[in-house]
Amino acid sequence: MTKLRLAIVGAGPAGIYAADILLKAERNFDVSIDLFDHLPAPYGLVRYGVAPDHPRIKGIINALREVLDRGDIRIFGNVRFGEDITLDDLKKHYNAVIFATGAVRDADLAVPGVELEGSYGAAEFVSWFDGHPDYPREWPLDAESVAVIGNGNVALDVARMLAKHVEDLMPTEIPENVRAGLAASPVTDVHVFGRRGPTSVKFTPLELRELGELRDVDMIVHDEDFDYDDAARAAVSGNKQVFVIDKTLQQWRQREVGQASRRLHLHFFAKPLELVDDGTGRVGAIRFERTAPDGEGGVVGTGEVRELPIQALYRAVGYFGSPLPGVPFDKKRGVIPNHEGQVLVKDAESGQSRQMYGVYATGWIKRGPVGLIGHTKSDAMETIKHLINDLGNWWSPESPSEESIVALLDERGIAYTDLDGWHNLDEHEKALGEAEGRVRIKVVPRDEMVQISRG
Ligand SMILES: Cc1cc2nc3c(=O)[nH]c(=O)nc-3n(C[C@H](O)[C@H](O)[C@H](O)COP(=O)(O)OP(=O)(O)OC[C@H]3O[C@@H](n4cnc5c(N)ncnc54)[C@H](O)[C@@H]3O)c2cc1C
Repeated sequence: MTKLRLAIVGAGPAGIYAADILLKAERNFDVSIDLFDHLPAPYGLVRYGVAPDHPRIKGIINALREVLDRGDIRIFGNVRFGEDITLDDLKKHYNAVIFATGAVRDADLAVPGVELEGSYGAAEFVSWFDGHPDYPREWPLDAESVAVIGNGNVALDVARMLAKHVEDLMPTEIPENVRAGLAASPVTDVHVFGRRGPTSVKFTPLELRELGELRDVDMIVHDEDFDYDDAARAAVSGNKQVFVIDKTLQQWRQREVGQASRRLHLHFFAKPLELVDDGTGRVGAIRFERTAPDGEGGVVGTGEVRELPIQALYRAVGYFGSPLPGVPFDKKRGVIPNHEGQVLVKDAESGQSRQMYGVYATGWIKRGPVGLIGHTKSDAMETIKHLINDLGNWWSPESPSEESIVALLDERGIAYTDLDGWHNLDEHEKALGEAEGRVRIKVVPRDEMVQISRG
């Protein structure tokens, strides 16, 4: 029987779902899958993106773990595609590869002053509070007044993590350095800025509502933002999600405020123009322009410029994918160009795109960094359907045996981690947490993660 030796690069939800779907799919060939990730632990942004105070979403790790624990997928952590292994290596050992490398960095924001000290990308901050091994352990939480630019759930995660009192994060898995950093934060005011109106936000209702439940944090919204036009009114009456969001915001308009020690302000119709230098090279204020509805669901500038003193700014304007050596990349969209998961390459002579046989993409690197974890499942289904149908076009590897890739990694001295290693680390982190009455405490330094994993 034909056998598909498949490499999947990226052990986030997209990669794990793709492996699971392929193993369960109707097919007339055998399958053997190796999953590679440059992190020593699997689960991608579920471990290193989803906020620590969202245990229900973090719990998706349990479902992903069940897939790995079945034992029919091998994982090789701490192996970076492009450095430790290359596309040529994969061609030598596999019939095909699926890239599921997600998106880890911040999209750019072209606003003057963005380079000032005190201006941060949300992805960096998220990586810090979620204990990502490749980010500095110290985070400069020295601002009293902070702005967050963006009207999606990541902006809300950042704003909530900044405004929430650290005592209320204590049941979570935050590492000790994050606890200490947040505990020392002098923050009193967090301002979230969105260019559009309250009916055009990308927040999900649940995440928004959660802000109103933060202990000792007042939610501040401004009456001037609720003078809805016809398009906004139609959105409220015609879209359930917008209806719930509007209801939450309207309730906050009625709330008494003034007692809490911290405040979380939502500013709508506010387009950031520039960050103002405080004279020492640090962020001192944000200058923004008041916008107004343009009657077609968008906004236009009104020319009215305002300024708010802040000492730090977080840009939560989206994530962006990173190019992989030897793999086509769409620089504008930050994705691997593809047709339903079949990777496309541009012919140098004709300029026409054609399928790059044997190479597939799924998840955020295929579709762009939007959507929830569940969406990576439907993504994976589409990609796997093509992989199965493309049987005639797979690569013909010269060393397809399962041992040969292990030999290659050993030969290169790569300290890879495997499924048993993950179990070791998982148990270790849970034990650290148990001692403090918490679910888990994450181990952050990469060396330590690898050492614990490899016993
Ligand atoms: C801050 C934040 C909060 C979120 N909160 C939620 C939420 O509450 N609920 C929800 O449903 N969704 C949430 N999401 C969205 C969710 O995380 C994504 O939908 C999902 O993780 C995308 O899956 P993926 O597998 O494509 O990418 P990822 O999860 O990013 O996984 C990609 C994997 O590829 C690996 N990789 C990258 N490059 C290489 C390389 N060169 N070599 C080897 N491995 C590599 C990475 O280490 C990573 O493990 C959130 C996202 C962010 C950013």
